[in-house]
Amino acid sequence: MFRQSKTVLQKLRNLRFQWQNPSWRFRSTSATERALQYQEGQKIHGFTVKEVVTVPDLFLTAVKLTHDNTGAQYLHAARDDKNNLFSVQLRTTPMDNTGVPHILEHTVLCGSEKYPCRDPFFKMLNRSLSTFMNAFTASDFTMYPFSTQNGKDFQNLLSVYLDAVFFPCLRELDFWQEGWRLENENPTDPTSPLVFKGVVFNEMKGAFSDNERVYAQHLQNKLYPDHTYSVVSGGEPLAIPDLSWEQLKHFHATHYHPSNARFFTYGDLPLEQHLKQIQEEALSKFERTEPDTAVPNQPHWDRPREDHVTCSPDAMSPDAAKQNTLCMSYLLGDITDTFEGFTLSLLSSLMISGPNSPFYKTLIEPKIGTNFSSVVGYDGSTKEASFSIGLQGMAEEDTEKVKQIIVQTIDEIIANGFEEERIEALLHKIEIQMKHQSTSFGLSLASYIASCWNHDGDPVQLLKISDSVAQFRQALKDNPRFLQEKVLLYFKDNTHRLTLSMSPDEAYLEKQVKAEEEKLQKKVQALSESDKKDIYEKGLELLSVQSKIQDASCLPALKVSDIEPTIAVTPVEMGTAGGVPVQYCEQPTNGMVYFRAMCSLNTLPEDLKLYVPLFCSVITKMGCGGLDYRQQAQQMELKTGGMSISTSVNPDYSNMDMYEQGVLLSSSCLERNLPDMFHLWSDIFNSPHFDDEERLRVLVMMSAQELANGISYSGHMYAMTRAARSLTPTGELQETFGGMEQVKFMKRIAEMPDLTQILRTLPRIKRHILNPLNMRCAVNSTPQKMSDAAGQLDNFMSNVASNKKDRKPVRSDITERPLDPLAAPGSGPSRKLITEPNFKPCQMKTFFPMPFPINFVSECIRTVPFTHEDYASLNILSRMMTAKYLHREIREKGGAYGGGARVGGGLFTFYSYRDPNSVQTLSTFRKSVDWVRSGQFTQQDIDEAKLSVFSAVDSPVAPSNKGMGRFLSGITDELKQAHRERLFAVTDKSLVDVAGRYLGIGQRTCGVAILGPENDTIKKDPSWVVK
Ligand SMILES: [Zn+2]
Repeated sequence: MFRQSKTVLQKLRNLRFQWQNPSWRFRSTSATERALQYQEGQKIHGFTVKEVVTVPDLFLTAVKLTHDNTGAQYLHAARDDKNNLFSVQLRTTPMDNTGVPHILEHTVLCGSEKYPCRDPFFKMLNRSLSTFMNAFTASDFTMYPFSTQNGKDFQNLLSVYLDAVFFPCLRELDFWQEGWRLENENPTDPTSPLVFKGVVFNEMKGAFSDNERVYAQHLQNKLYPDHTYSVVSGGEPLAIPDLSWEQLKHFHATHYHPSNARFFTYGDLPLEQHLKQIQEEALSKFERTEPDTAVPNQPHWDRPREDHVTCSPDAMSPDAAKQNTLCMSYLLGDITDTFEGFTLSLLSSLMISGPNSPFYKTLIEPKIGTNFSSVVGYDGSTKEASFSIGLQGMAEEDTEKVKQIIVQTIDEIIANGFEEERIEALLHKIEIQMKHQSTSFGLSLASYIASCWNHDGDPVQLLKISDSVAQFRQALKDNPRFLQEKVLLYFKDNTHRLTLSMSPDEAYLEKQVKAEEEKLQKKVQALSESDKKDIYEKGLELLSVQSKIQDASCLPALKVSDIEPTIAVTPVEMGTAGGVPVQYCEQPTNGMVYFRAMCSLNTLPEDLKLYVPLFCSVITKMGCGGLDYRQQAQQMELKTGGMSISTSVNPDYSNMDMYEQGVLLSSSCLERNLPDMFHLWSDIFNSPHFDDEERLRVLVMMSAQELANGISYSGHMYAMTRAARSLTPTGELQETFGGMEQVKFMKRIAEMPDLTQILRTLPRIKRHILNPLNMRCAVNSTPQKMSDAAGQLDNFMSNVASNKKDRKPVRSDITERPLDPLAAPGSGPSRKLITEPNFKPCQMKTFFPMPFPINFVSECIRTVPFTHEDYASLNILSRMMTAKYLHREIREKGGAYGGGARVGGGLFTFYSYRDPNSVQTLSTFRKSVDWVRSGQFTQQDIDEAKLSVFSAVDSPVAPSNKGMGRFLSGITDELKQAHRERLFAVTDKSLVDVAGRYLGIGQRTCGVAILGPENDTIKKDPSWVVK
């Protein structure tokens, strides 16, 4: 996987907690207290303790160590969280575009000394209960993290990771498969033409089909032109074939050494055990080296520079005549200065975030472009940070105007500074981010400290966020012009500034294809006949290795008996507020209250359906009550952790043709701000503003641009949604709300010269949605705060009672399911589901031509709902087919970035991601069914699929989200437990049986969709609908 850079503030946003029962913190055996007993200078398993620090804000104790022999650095964050994490990061600083660190990241995971079987990484996915396993290549480091809640599993995974990173096989065949190779198009036919293949080669072709990605890459390369940031660490597709196997091995020898490594562990498992295992299995086998990997500072320019690049035109863009991007990027200070980094990232938020920020007012609201440029704000992922500001979706002739506005805005900021209330709102946001708990806290922490630590900054200092907040407040107090002086220094007076523009070139794709062809011909022409024979034979060899049944018994594995037989129960209580049913769920939420409301769409006329996503995205951003949209945004930031509305379509758990349709309100706040949050919701319900066409246009443009940009990244989601469209009523509605149909609809709206008709439509939707008669609510909070929350909710409901108008459902076919499964039907509150008895599933094949060089392919089959006895078998089957067949055929042999099968919503869905093949992949899907039916799998394969399914089923749930599955889809703990027992009971016979009955050709209705480049096979085949 290739990681894109993130700004510090984006990382902060992910910095969240999983805080256990508060009373546990004070037990003498707590992980944080145990860690406090380490002493500076203490020697443990070859390491020396350097520092022990408590970080009360994050409820953790940090222990910093150094490995005596090699100098490897180590940070342990002890915290009472079961979801333990390990990560090792190496400083990888390539000096060319061959993507050597990225190809190495893939290749080390292909087999190692102790685990020589092919692909131990992917195999461990199915032999473990990991909650996360991955690897990332950033611009200047490579990171290998995993997390799990099981102690035995932690040791197993640690052993595999250490061996992979420090003792990989790096076989030539692995390099060909993962990196690049020349191979006959059809490997079994020596007369078929030679082509480039390889996983990273295709992955990067896919990555560079995304214009935002292209722009970000150029910007970094050109702003730091003198060292490692001037190259593409992921690999420039056409430079990848310049990498040799020897160079790859050399890069490993010089970069993947403990003296160049930083280890991080997190959670409640004891530190000694980790150190012992890391010492014994890896570090004891190395001596210290002096890695030459440090990144020097970029020499400062004495005058600003300008540059220009091109990209492919975007058919989905809201305005074809406005596809230019322009931004100015400034080199800032060293990220190892923690406080300076903190200040600059806050300053960046003040300058660009939300409708009250100066750049939003001067760049977004005049509608010169559709949105900020893809790179915007503070970026602390390089040794010296940068700040970028600009627009995408703008006309070429506006270039000078945009440059002028940027310069003027900076002058205005220096003159006027920022309102105190905005600074407070931002600091409130940081407080919320520190209190909100997520399930992947360890991982967020690892990526939060990675960049700074990579350049020898102090990771512990970075964790002390409230120290930085206090220092920031003091600095402002001492000098009211503190921020303005920073703007003067880093922006106005900074001569290291790059202005980079990008414009579409009609011939862009064609030129790329031609360049690849030339590169290929150059390579092919240099080959002798015997070289060609060699290539053919190597291709066959790779194919035979890929096809061989592999013995993975060298790898450690958990057993099915290690899985908990029963689920942990989540108690909820049902009540009412102002006549509306409420689900209360008491959780250790760390002083936060989470509020959700589901509002049914059953009374909404059909012709308004397409507008619902637009309604959801603007309703909290147009102003309400006495607040205009700026004041509203300010209040939300000051008083809440965010307020949003989204569409929600939930298939029934027992009937494929029944579903609930609605919109979901979500918000959170600190306990003290509960009245303010409900006050804001009341205003949104009672008096939303629908009168500002200019404001609406800004929001429409931004959201149309976001949708268009998302396709090249989430193409598989769009393909799957489209393939499901004609199979179930839920599938049809999901396509309307979030599929290609919605993307095209938003593009049409963005192109309308006059939006008054839309402004008239929005209140019509509001009348149907924000109506207490069609609602139910959920509150998650601490037990202490629950009754207060209930009282506030009651008030809120009586405030919005004026919306209570009895509207007739437009549909007569409504089924009520009681919210309390034990209540007699009709005796209590219920969910109102729609049935579509006349829905006829039908087969459809849809193709969307796209300006990408790769495809997203999906086939979807109508099967059975969640409570059906065959659902568990189909679920296990999808995992087994993915791990044992589809991964091999689609990724290893086919060269796609990914592919697999999944179940959900009564559908069995195949998909591929960034796939060089199109219709061939459809036949691979078919062959996977034959493979199951022929029974060529083992009990071990089934057990592995079960482990993989259960690691998803049992993945940790944050306190804010506990009980939400039940709230939304009515699936109770009892139903989950019954499903769990059916999963345990799945056998080889039931797998072969369901594969035959559901997935065999002609057994069930299926739908197909492909997004990809112009395709002659499809064009000639009349069974396809080409969009
Ligand atoms: Zn990758």
